[in-house]
Amino acid sequence: MSEMLANSNQSESCPLKKVAVFCGASLGFNEAYRLDAIALGEFFAEKGISMVYGGGKIGMMGAIADAMLRLNGEVIGVIPHLLRHEEVAHADISEMHVSKTMSERKVTISKMVDGYIALAGGFGTLDEIFEALTLGQLAIENKPVGILNTNGFFDALLNQLDVMVKEGFLRAENRKMLIVSNSIPDLIDKMNAYQAPKVSKLVDTVGS
Ligand code: AMP
Repeated sequence: MSEMLANSNQSESCPLKKVAVFCGASLGFNEAYRLDAIALGEFFAEKGISMVYGGGKIGMMGAIADAMLRLNGEVIGVIPHLLRHEEVAHADISEMHVSKTMSERKVTISKMVDGYIALAGGFGTLDEIFEALTLGQLAIENKPVGILNTNGFFDALLNQLDVMVKEGFLRAENRKMLIVSNSIPDLIDKMNAYQAPKVSKLVDTVGS
C-alpha cells in the first residue's frame, strides 16, 4: 500500500478510456465467468477502451485479453518479473511492462488507468480491487471502482461490506464507492457517472 500512496496523479472527472481489470488466474467451475470475461473484452474493444491487466494468458486474464485481441483492442500487461515465464505471460498483447515486484506492478497499473474493474477471481483479485478502494477511501485517487457481479459471485463479499458498515468499521459513504452490476453496459455507465465522496475522514474513533 505504501508505494501506491505515492501515486496521487488523478483528474477530477474520468470518462473511462483505459481501465484496469483484475480477475482470476483461474477460470472457475462455471462457464458463466469465462463468458463474462469475453463479453467485457469485446465491449472494451468495440468502445475503444484500453485494458491494463496482470499480463497473464491463463484463466480469466487470458480469456479477456484474447477476446480483446480478436477485435484489435488495446491490451496492456503489467507483469512482475517472477511471473514472466512462458506458461503465464501473454505473448501477443499490445504492450507488456515488467515490474520488479508485485507492489511495483500495482503502482504502475494505477498510474495508467482511469478506473478499475474486478471480475471473478481469488486472493490476487481481491487484493488488487481492495487496494484501489482504499486509495479512493483515503482520497488519494478519485477513480471509479466496479465489480461485475457475474452469477452473484460477489454477493457474500458485499454482505460482508454491509457487516463492516453495521459494526462501525466502514463508513456508509465509502461502502457506496464500490459500483456493482451484473450488466456490463450498466456497470460502465455507472462508472462513467461516478462522483467520489466529498469528505474523506482518515481516522475514526469509537462513537465518533
Ligand atoms: P487470483 O485472483 O488469485 O487468481 O489472482 C489474479 C490477479 O492477481 C490478477 O488480476 C493478476 O494481476 C494477479 N496474478 C495472480 N496470478 C498471476 C499470474 N500467474 N500471472 C499474472 N498475474 C497474476
